[in-house]
Amino acid sequence: MGSYGPATWIGELRRLLGDDRKVSTGTAMRENHSHDFSYHAPRLPDAVVFPESTEEVSAVLRFANQRRIPVVPFGAGSSLEGHVVPVAGGISLDLTRMDQIVEVRPDDFLVRVQAGVTRSRLNRRLAQEGLFFPVDPGADATIGGMVATNASGTNAVRYGAMKHQVLGLEVVLADGRIIRTGSRAVKTSAGYNLTGLFVGSEGTLGVITEATLRVYPMPEHVVAARAAFPTVEAAARVAVGLIRAGVPVARVELVDEATIRAVNAYKKTAYPERPTLFLEFSGDEASVRAEVAFARDLAALEECLGFEYESDPAAREKLWEARHHAALAIAAAAPGKKMMVTDVCVPLSHLPDAIRHARRTAEEHGIYAAILGHVGDGNYHAAFMVDPCDPEDVARAERVNAAIVQYALARGGTCTGEHGVGVGKKRYLAAEHGGALELMRAIKGVLDPNGILNPGKVVDPFPAGP
Ligand SMILES: Cc1cc2nc3c(=O)[nH]c(=O)nc-3n(C[C@H](O)[C@H](O)[C@H](O)COP(=O)(O)OP(=O)(O)OC[C@H]3O[C@@H](n4cnc5c(N)ncnc54)[C@H](O)[C@@H]3O)c2cc1C
Repeated sequence: MGSYGPATWIGELRRLLGDDRKVSTGTAMRENHSHDFSYHAPRLPDAVVFPESTEEVSAVLRFANQRRIPVVPFGAGSSLEGHVVPVAGGISLDLTRMDQIVEVRPDDFLVRVQAGVTRSRLNRRLAQEGLFFPVDPGADATIGGMVATNASGTNAVRYGAMKHQVLGLEVVLADGRIIRTGSRAVKTSAGYNLTGLFVGSEGTLGVITEATLRVYPMPEHVVAARAAFPTVEAAARVAVGLIRAGVPVARVELVDEATIRAVNAYKKTAYPERPTLFLEFSGDEASVRAEVAFARDLAALEECLGFEYESDPAAREKLWEARHHAALAIAAAAPGKKMMVTDVCVPLSHLPDAIRHARRTAEEHGIYAAILGHVGDGNYHAAFMVDPCDPEDVARAERVNAAIVQYALARGGTCTGEHGVGVGKKRYLAAEHGGALELMRAIKGVLDPNGILNPGKVVDPFPAGP
């Protein structure tokens, strides 16, 4: 390509978009877009571009595709596997100026939003209608980023992940074509499920500009509970027992004693440093009362050390405080280090043993791991703080990470239940998918033949033929 580099194309892009404020090359802005929340090495993009409409996204992609310039879609940058790191430079395409809530249809229980809307802003708007959107990753992520990672969170045990909420998408393809997938109907059998293809595609197949999502009525009555246990396995057994008994628990989160210790240090609190289950029940008052009583009895069978519950909203919030602060507390416990976090999901019956194995593996490697997770659906995290400048520290943590993933895969689980692949989980996809990985590569080759969309993530393009 000779001397045709960023210095040339950035000027052309500015002229194309007709507004210098839509293309930033400032160092601070490029640094903001060089990393996510994890230990993965940062890399600066050449420029950060802020489109304000689908047509502008289309124009940028057509421009980049013709010139083979990498484009990395960027939402809130809260992902955890190096997803937004522009490993090949190029454009970081920041969607946050596309933040319109286009349509709220309370009678159809759906909304249409642009990709840059954050989940908290969507929920503030929905509250006016007595509705809410249930998917709640711990960060205030954008809907585009949440679709692109198939995010979930504490409510997934009751409402499912992003893939269960997305009815349709507007997507701009690598060559600038704009397509719509799905419909406003809650179900469809009309052809291949292209909506599902883009959910979880991590910016490697297209740029999501709009999403049509299911929303739900706010529950009539909510009770939050907190229960401490002598062991992590006992707490996990109660979580599994609740699901097995068919209790429609709204949330069931596990936090181990290491995490509670970190929260106590971070928030100056004095929670008992014991493995703890955080629970939530919602529905009509009588059913909720019966579910809470059942959960308390089940917990007692596992020698529960204390079961507290509250229905008042402020008291509920207080009861769950330790869970809400867990991630930040873990990070604060090791200043200067970065977080590596496993994200395996196993069939529910394997959960207590999987957690015991993770704890033992970390201890054997001399790693201080905090374990927490959305245990109602078999998904848990072991979080370790690592020094990215110390290769031995990173290698040791990666060995633990790999052992936890292999344990999960051997039991029919997955290397990532909700965070996604990015660069960090790429190495496990062959073991998880076998021959299906070739099909994923082929799909990537069809939708992005020049490999401009978030290169280096999820799968590499189809290897060149003979
Ligand atoms: C403290 C903390 C707690 C977390 N807890 C959870 C949790 O409980 N559950 C969970 O699932 N995740 C969790 N996460 C991870 C993260 O919040 C989610 O992955 C979230 O969905 C990322 O959204 P984002 O807007 O930050 O996307 P980004 O990080 O900006 O991007 C994520 C990926 O999506 C792509 N992308 C972004 N926008 C678009 C678009 N419009 N079109 C196409 N591709 C796009 C990017 O290229 C990238 O590959 C947590 C993160 C933190 C920091």
